[in-house]
Amino acid sequence: MSNATSNNQPVNNRQAVIRQTTTPEGGAGTLLRMLPAWIISAVLHVVIIGMFLFVTVGIGTAGDAPPDEVNETQVEEPPAKEDLTNTDLGIDSDVPTNYDVERIAEVSVPGPVLPNEVVGLSNAPEGPAQTIPPPPGFGGGTGGGIQSLTPGNANPFGLPGGMGGLLSVPGGFGARLASGATRERMVLEGGGNGPSEAAVARGLEWLALHQAPDGRWALDGFTSHARDKYGPGGKPFTCNCQGSGQKNDIAGTAFGVLPFLAAGITHKPIVADKKQQRDYTKTVEGALKFLMAKQDKSNGSLGGMYEHGLATIALCEAYGLTSDPGLKASAQKAVNYIVYAQHDAGGWRYGPKQAGDTSVTGWEVMALKSGQMAGLSVPKPTIDGATKYLNSCMSLTDYGYGYTGVGSTPTMSAVGLLCRQYLGWSPRKPELRNGVEKNVVPAPPAVNNMYYSYYATQVMHHMGGEHWAKWNPPMRDALVKAQDQGNDVRRAHQRGSWDPKSDGHGGAWGRVGQTSLSLLTLEVYYRHLPLYRREMGTVKPEDEK
Ligand SMILES: [Zn+2]
Repeated sequence: MSNATSNNQPVNNRQAVIRQTTTPEGGAGTLLRMLPAWIISAVLHVVIIGMFLFVTVGIGTAGDAPPDEVNETQVEEPPAKEDLTNTDLGIDSDVPTNYDVERIAEVSVPGPVLPNEVVGLSNAPEGPAQTIPPPPGFGGGTGGGIQSLTPGNANPFGLPGGMGGLLSVPGGFGARLASGATRERMVLEGGGNGPSEAAVARGLEWLALHQAPDGRWALDGFTSHARDKYGPGGKPFTCNCQGSGQKNDIAGTAFGVLPFLAAGITHKPIVADKKQQRDYTKTVEGALKFLMAKQDKSNGSLGGMYEHGLATIALCEAYGLTSDPGLKASAQKAVNYIVYAQHDAGGWRYGPKQAGDTSVTGWEVMALKSGQMAGLSVPKPTIDGATKYLNSCMSLTDYGYGYTGVGSTPTMSAVGLLCRQYLGWSPRKPELRNGVEKNVVPAPPAVNNMYYSYYATQVMHHMGGEHWAKWNPPMRDALVKAQDQGNDVRRAHQRGSWDPKSDGHGGAWGRVGQTSLSLLTLEVYYRHLPLYRREMGTVKPEDEK
């Protein structure tokens, strides 16, 4: 507007605006009176906006203008500030996810492990159907991944939008939601079998029977939480299991719930699973609610960095599998705390901002990748810092990893190598292949070293080919064999669990942790898709980078 012009006749100008606006409406006086209040209000707003255009003019001459006709101030009050806090918890197992229930019965069956299930659905599509929206792409992109038809050569991480050309379903967790036929195919093609799946089913049941009513698993006192049947209706049961670990309910609860999530079992009901044999939705719901209740509301912390990393993986996986908005804030806050707790040199240790060790760093990197796969925000500098840390403790002779600083032990090497795979190293990168061949291959699978075996199994699963063909059968069969069958009548309740006694870390994580890592290792066939998905066992030349 032009002040110079307005200043000549400020009063006239303002009155003219008011009258011009009201005159056409007021031409029929009776009609004006009948107009609904909101139309009058709308007209007033137009007038008021007009007034604003001349407000600088009006200041000097306000005394001359009759102020009585337009009492606009009352409608000028700003709207009350909205409370944007999301109080909708959403985590309610009675509310299904946003499945298209009209179609789900035919194609989309996010199912639990049902070892005796009839194979397949007639006319089921080849690929895993999925009604849960794919998460946004890695690296902060907004586009959900779409199933690619041909494998590309892009790095799967750090690219905006989508899967970066991996021949796989959208979202890193999609495999778990595969229908019965697809899941069975994945188990068989991946190297699992009937006995391994039956062992998973037994192990999940053992875990569910030792969950406390408030949703937690105790690594130490889990026997006092034993129930005669799992879920809310279970009654206290005098159990004869052994294998108490150290007290850590957050780690225990994360250990307890992760094998369910690995099998695609969430707190949401499985709508299409008509002949479901086991319903663990309340089990998972209880665990997630416990973790969320224990989370520090201000900074997102769930405790020390060990248990924080484990619990963050659980929250991120649960969110990634369900897109439940009630989980999102907790999962993102947990990720944010990892971002905050990173040491300047890129690693993590027991407490926030301590100089890193490879063991804790491994859990945090896995949690960050789970967060990314779930579509949560993970800053690139944090990921870059993790790579910097790994560089600092990688041996340049055998490409293994030390606990703190340069070195190479089988376990730390397995942790470091899995981190490298998730942070973008190609399967043909010499440092990766050498690291695997010189540190993992010489250390065979061992059920009494599940910390190593859990990581090494994933490393080999991603490597695929000969590595996986040699690693998987002995690992799988040894775990199936080592599972407690309940044959000892004095310890019959241990059926389905794994004994921590002979494991070096068993004293710390107890029977709950031993069972959890054994299950997760047997669930590798569908828990994570191989990062380097091969067709016909060959890696495309483009993968070499
Ligand atoms: Zn028991």
